[in-house]
Amino acid sequence: MKFKKNIIKIAVDGFSSCGKSTLAKDLAAELGFIYIDSGAMYRAITLYSIRKGFFEDQNLNSVELIRSLNQVNIDFLTDENSNLITLLNGENVESDIRSLSVSSKVSIISSVPEVRKKMVELQRQMSSKKSVVMDGRDIGTVVFPDADIKFFVTADIETRAKRRFLELVEKGQNPNFEEVKKNLTERDFLDQNRKDSPLVKAPDAILIDNTNLNRKEQLELALYYITKTLC
Ligand code: C5P
Repeated sequence: MKFKKNIIKIAVDGFSSCGKSTLAKDLAAELGFIYIDSGAMYRAITLYSIRKGFFEDQNLNSVELIRSLNQVNIDFLTDENSNLITLLNGENVESDIRSLSVSSKVSIISSVPEVRKKMVELQRQMSSKKSVVMDGRDIGTVVFPDADIKFFVTADIETRAKRRFLELVEKGQNPNFEEVKKNLTERDFLDQNRKDSPLVKAPDAILIDNTNLNRKEQLELALYYITKTLC
């Protein structure tokens, strides 16, 4: 594909488990861009906070967390099968950050403004000189308000819960469907209602409802908009 510009930024935002990471990964592979999973970064800080004992049940000691933020290093590498691996202070935490215990606390961590500030800086740094597809909740609104194209992905809650449930089963976990669905609903609520950078569709984002689309159809639809807008 031949673009009008050299460096392109594609923002993919949306609700939990709506297929936005799948779309972002597929787009990056198809276009030869780098892929950044911003949710993995919030998940890695959440894992760090759990391990450090910053949580007492669902209560976060945000003072301790903010104090140790400069000791948290998050990076990505790509393995031999082109999968993105999240590194927390050099350790591969890709599997641990997908657990339900991290999922149930991540929206608490991501509502802390100091955490968001650090993540946004890192996200901009990681993609400063390269064409990128980044997925998350605030990419089109905060991280790249000037993104070349923005997508906002959604699907109905039953479909999303089924997809996340099957994903966890495939990863060898033993999820409970109702718990998975409850977690998605709670995260959507917290992500949409936090003060700092709430999840909201940017006015100029293209809405993709993939409830009745398969992976290939979703990719083709996004590529149609990209060709129309950027080539
Ligand atoms: O995308 P994923 O479901 O892995 O994201 C996990 C959580 O990280 C979200 O529920 C949200 O609280 C937070 N997040 C965020 N901003 C982003 C990406 C993720 O607040 N850009």
